[in-house]
Amino acid sequence: MTTKAIKGGEFVIQETSYEDVFIPEEFDEEAQMIRQTCLDFLDTEVLNKLDRIDAQEEGLMQSLLDKAGELGLLGVSIPEEYGGFGKNFNTSMLVADAVGGGFSFAVALSAHTGIGTLPILYYGNAEQKAKYIPKLATGEWKAAYCLTEPNSGSDANSGRTSAKLNAEGTHYLINGQKMWITNGGFADIFIVFAKIDDDKNLSAFIVEKNFGGITMNPEEHKMGIKGSSTRQIFFNDCPVPVENMLSERGNGFKIAVNILNIGRIKLGAATIGSARSVISKAVNYANERVQFNLPISKFGAIRYKLAEMATRLFATESAAYRAGQNIDDAYDALIAGGMDDAKAKLKSVEQFAIECAIIKVWCSEMLDYVVDEGVQIYGGMGYSAEAPMERAYRDSRINRYF
Ligand SMILES: Cc1cc2nc3c(=O)[nH]c(=O)nc-3n(C[C@H](O)[C@H](O)[C@H](O)COP(=O)(O)OP(=O)(O)OC[C@H]3O[C@@H](n4cnc5c(N)ncnc54)[C@H](O)[C@@H]3O)c2cc1C
Repeated sequence: MTTKAIKGGEFVIQETSYEDVFIPEEFDEEAQMIRQTCLDFLDTEVLNKLDRIDAQEEGLMQSLLDKAGELGLLGVSIPEEYGGFGKNFNTSMLVADAVGGGFSFAVALSAHTGIGTLPILYYGNAEQKAKYIPKLATGEWKAAYCLTEPNSGSDANSGRTSAKLNAEGTHYLINGQKMWITNGGFADIFIVFAKIDDDKNLSAFIVEKNFGGITMNPEEHKMGIKGSSTRQIFFNDCPVPVENMLSERGNGFKIAVNILNIGRIKLGAATIGSARSVISKAVNYANERVQFNLPISKFGAIRYKLAEMATRLFATESAAYRAGQNIDDAYDALIAGGMDDAKAKLKSVEQFAIECAIIKVWCSEMLDYVVDEGVQIYGGMGYSAEAPMERAYRDSRINRYF
């Protein structure tokens, strides 16, 4: 594709030719195959185990991530030299969409491939990438991202976790408490944000679980995504070799923000898969459920709900893949200008921070609307844990803030 790269937010003021707007039907055969592999994986491995996943059956989530890794689903956007498929940004959006109907599994996979892996891929040096990325791409090592603390949520740079260089100058000793850490219970690698001495800004570190000095609380009891591991993690003089700092001292807040920016648009893509699945089920139910001698889908109020759900999903899908392609076009332009791969990947997403934020807010609210109407269409069965809407409703809510 050789469309002209536009700048972030430019869609508001610039006239765009329809030929330059990407639609998902344009994905090539290979991307469609990757999508189908994800959908088949959900069907055969995930959707038939939702109760066991939500009960956090010992080892189940890890084994599902291992299987996804064997199929290459954890390495779609990782360069081939590190064992991935090296696909473009919009293909990774397609994967997030396809896996998005996978409830807690989707959360575990996206935390691993996104906030867990990308800090190393985008900010790691050659040695760090060579050591960690191939194992993250296969799922042999699973990753978590440790930014939030009990007193530091939205104000992420205010964290109190400290990193102090030891007397020998070989290790940083990390001390502090992190909270709400997705994949925390089974992760091998933690991206930890901490402040060195009295620094104004955070620094970022790659921490291996077996470095020692790491303990955690039991799993959080949550409203939804019950199968997703969420822990409080304590670092007690956790020794991290100096070579495991990511980027430079004080650059951690920038890393955190840029990685979350990517997380926003990918979260948007994931809501597409969830909403599509909910709408399909709601349509089927409305066609099968008979009241007043007619399928309820014949009633105007139900038709309106289904139409509004589909309309919002259509807008979501259009916006997400259009912005995804804008990011790929910007990346191609930066590469053509001689920029290094990891830097170009970051810069291209950074330029579309406005679209990422718009998509995050719109998509998460779209999904909450869709699941709410899904519950309504199911009537009393919408409230039953025996029927599919109850889990969809609970699992959707998290997207509006994390
Ligand atoms: C299930 C789950 C998984 C998570 N996974 C991870 C993870 O893997 N890694 C990680 O680091 N974190 C994770 N988080 C943390 C999550 O990102 C935070 O919960 C989020 O950043 C909000 O922080 P907080 O909960 O402390 O809310 P607070 O910052 O205390 O915010 C409370 C309310 O105040 C509002 N608010 C805050 N500041 C302002 C302002 N300036 N203006 C207006 N309103 C404001 C917020 O929007 C919110 O509505 C997870 C959270 C959950 C619940």
